[in-house]
Amino acid sequence: MKTIIINHMKNISNEKEFLFSIQCSNCHKEWKSVPIHFSKAYEKPLTNAKKIVYQALFQQELESAANKAVKDAQKQFNYCPICKSLVCNSCFMICEDIDMCIDCAKELQENGEIVES
Ligand SMILES: [Zn+2]
Ligand SMILES: [Zn+2]
Repeated sequence: MKTIIINHMKNISNEKEFLFSIQCSNCHKEWKSVPIHFSKAYEKPLTNAKKIVYQALFQQELESAANKAVKDAQKQFNYCPICKSLVCNSCFMICEDIDMCIDCAKELQENGEIVES
């Protein structure tokens, strides 16, 4: 699940904040992560050496922000085992045998309850 989320997650960060988005394959609703500020967003590196330090720090904070976004996204998105798409909670159904997206449930005539309506 984590890898699937990572593959679908778009990095829309800029130099001041870390931000990620995922789109539901079914309703195309876009989910955005909670923006996290880069700790040195408002500090200019005074020397070239500091610039290198800040760049490394940026990479590190970007990675941890991405990890957090993946964790949050896991609560918002579900992977349909039938059509292999990533859909939001409003497009996913808890069915009797196996949980799947609403389109597949309709197609396969499975009954269930939507995760979040
Ligand atoms: Zn959706
Ligand atoms: Zn499906």
